[in-house]
Order: sequence, then structure tokens, then C-alpha cells
Amino acid sequence: LVIEALKSAARNNQMKDAFQQSKELYPLLLKAARRYVAGEVRADAIAVAENLLAKDYQVSLEFIGENTVNLEECQKAMKEFMSLIDGMGALSLKQTVSFDLSHIGLSIDKEIAYNHLLQLVQHANTHGIILMVSMEESSKTDAILDIYKKIAAQYDNIGITVQAHLYRTEMDLQELVQYPGKIRLVKGAFQEPSTIAMERSEALNHRYLQFIDQLIKWNHPLSIATHDEVLIQEMEQRHYFQQSNVEIEMLYGIRPDLIQSLQRKGYNCKVYLPYGQEWYLYLCHRLAENPENLYSAVTDMLST
Ligand code: FAD
Repeated sequence: LVIEALKSAARNNQMKDAFQQSKELYPLLLKAARRYVAGEVRADAIAVAENLLAKDYQVSLEFIGENTVNLEECQKAMKEFMSLIDGMGALSLKQTVSFDLSHIGLSIDKEIAYNHLLQLVQHANTHGIILMVSMEESSKTDAILDIYKKIAAQYDNIGITVQAHLYRTEMDLQELVQYPGKIRLVKGAFQEPSTIAMERSEALNHRYLQFIDQLIKWNHPLSIATHDEVLIQEMEQRHYFQQSNVEIEMLYGIRPDLIQSLQRKGYNCKVYLPYGQEWYLYLCHRLAENPENLYSAVTDMLST
């Protein structure tokens, strides 16, 4: 019940507006969100990123947003991503920028998303920055992969996220390894019909490992994006993390203890660091994923 409530709260604009207008609740929620997001503006993100880089982590920055259906909003998002790339470039932060294609036009028109992505990839290329495309609901998978492939055939500073829970991923991987871009493997965050995807289960974990195994054998640049300690231990025993083109990537604020212990062993560790005013949506997702986080959220809100 709590999970369902959080999921609907995430997409409920009236509730979001009510929270944002509340002088009492807004700062409290922002305090809780700060465990998972760098802040509301680009400068916050760059400051946290520099701190993480000083501790030998890599970073992947995301300006939070998705499903933008208004062209003006997409252009605003594009402006922010361009400025983020400039800001990182000015500091020589040759790191990663992550985003949803639906934030920059996919929910309006595929061509708009393609053109926006092309502009971003060209701009990022001049600064040695890598773009990482997130994977969204299965209704968008074909469009996201089409756009990615067109651009990845021309530029190598772009990578793609794939979801182990989708049955189609086995076939998609065969094609995606033909492109130079890094592949980020996640379990999958969206609720999908059982005809096309697996639920969280031992079978899914097994499949996740199988895909990683394959990508390692193909020696393809790889981001292992999971907080699953049991899977991580298994992969460590198989010496996967010792390969130089393999990184372990976790969301900022989720299992910081685990990523720290891996980083101390000398493995390539990357922190996915989101920022922006849409943190409310992001916070609801993180709480819904793991209701134990509600306890931390309340503790954060009550702390002085
Ligand atoms: P799970 O089986 O969900 O959890 C395993 C264990 O990890 C849990 O028992 C718990 O100990 C820990 N854990 C997991 N989540 C949490 C949490 N919120 N709070 C505290 N502990 C937790 N999904 C997409 O569909 N598309 C994307 O583009 C995408 N990009 C991602 C990028 C990165 C860098 C990462 C790390 C994840 C991304 N995800 C994406 C989310 C992903 O699909 C999973 O939903 C998420 O990572 C949780 O799955 P898990 O592999 O950690 O394992």
C-alpha cells in the first residue's frame, strides 16, 4: 500500500504543487531528498561532483526530468544540459551526463529527440564528456534504441542503458555490442506486463549475471549498475571488476557504504548524481523502491 501510494504521489502534479507551495513541508522534503540528489541547481551538482572526484569516484550527472510534452520545456531542458556540459568542460570534468530522451523531446516527436541528442553529443564531444541514455518504459524502448543506434554509429561518446528484466534484452544486446558505446546494465525500474518482463526474483538475478558474463567475454565497455550486494560479491569473485573497461555504478545516497568498500579495493566506481527542481519525483521513486528509506527520510526531516 505504501509503495503504491508513493508511486502515485510521484506522478500526482496536484500533490507536488501542494508540497512545493507549502512553506512548512517543502524545506522538510527537500532535506530528505538531499540524501539522493545533489541539490536544485547545477552549481550544487558540480560542487558535489567535485567532492566525489576528489575521493576518486567517477560521476554521472543528471538534470532530473522526464516525459516533457511541451516543446518550450524541452528547450529549457536542452539549455540546462548544454550549460551543464559547458560547466563541466570549464572545470575539465571529463565525466558522464545521463538523461531520459523523453526529457528532451521523445514524448513529443522522435525527430525532435534525435536532433536534440545530436546537438548534445556534438557539444559533449568537444569537452571529452560522455552521454549516457537512460532506458524508460517498454513502450519507448524501440524509439530509444533507434535514436541511440543512429547517433552511436557516428559518435563514440555515447552509451545506452538496458534493462535485464525485459525478455527482448537478450536480442538487443547482440546488436548493441556492434556499437562502441558503453552499455549500462540495470535490472529495470518500471512495472511491465509479465508477458514481456520478469519480476524481481532469483531468476532475474541469474539473468543479470548471465548478461554481465556475456558482455565481459565480449570485452565491451560496461557499467554494472546495481546495489545488489550478493550479485556484486559473485561478480567480484569472478574478477569482473578488474577489467579496465568495467565500472560499478550506484545511485547517490543508495548503499554509500557498499560503493565505498568497492572503491577502496581500487575498482572503477561511479556515482549517479541527479539534481534539479524535479527532485520530488525522484525522491518518491527512491522511497517506493525500498520502503526502509522512509525511515531515513523521516530521520533526515527531523534532524536539525
Ligand atoms: P534490487 O533487486 O532492486 O535490490 C537489491 C538490493 O539493493 C536491495 O535488497 C537493497 O539492499 C539495495 N537497494 C536497491 N534499491 C535500493 C534503494 N532504493 N534504497 C536502498 N537500498 C536499495 N532503471 C531503468 O529502468 N532505467 C534506467 O535507465 C536506469 N538507470 C539506472 C542507473 C543507475 C546508475 C542505477 C544504479 C540504476 C538505474 N536504474 C534504471 C534503476 C534500476 O533498474 C533498479 O531499479 C535499481 O537499481 C534497483 O535495483 P538493484 O539492481 O539495485 O537491485
